[in-house]
Amino acid sequence: MPTILTHAAVPLAIRLGLGPAALSARLVTCGVLAAMLPDLDVLAFHYGIPYAAAFGHRGFSHSLLFAAMAALVAAFMYRWLQTTFARAYGFIFFAMASHGVLDALTNGGLGIAFFWPFSTQRYFAPVQVIDVSPIGVSRLFSMHGLAVLQSELFWVWLPSISMALCVLGWRTLRRNTTAQNNQND
Ligand SMILES: [Zn+2]
Repeated sequence: MPTILTHAAVPLAIRLGLGPAALSARLVTCGVLAAMLPDLDVLAFHYGIPYAAAFGHRGFSHSLLFAAMAALVAAFMYRWLQTTFARAYGFIFFAMASHGVLDALTNGGLGIAFFWPFSTQRYFAPVQVIDVSPIGVSRLFSMHGLAVLQSELFWVWLPSISMALCVLGWRTLRRNTTAQNNQND
């Protein structure tokens, strides 16, 4: 996995790009939690469940079905999340599914069981550019941990924030053009 905090990059970047009017603070907070939640499956190691098992690390909790189910739960809470049913569903699904995609881009561990329970096959992306994060906090605070953080900054945070700023720039430009057109009318 990338380190757990790096999974927050995707929902935070979407919020940066689309602005507070599109996504409430509650929805974004839930999105950040949804992006991190799949890695609770590391608890499996404590219970002796093997990595490669369906309920092992990067197994069921990293699947698209799990993201779809979590998104459905969030969608039914759309009023509390101060949004619409569709937006709650879409945002939470995207945030959680992005977790598996980022993991699939890492260069270690086992692949992701995207299609659980229909298939227990583990998948990696065609390119694996992100240095895999060690499991456990103590091992993260090492020279290898530093290299992992650098890799995540470069391959996750930088592209996410760049894309968000492009969207933000485009939205500002469009708003200014519309305001100018209205003045000219
Ligand atoms: Zn993961």
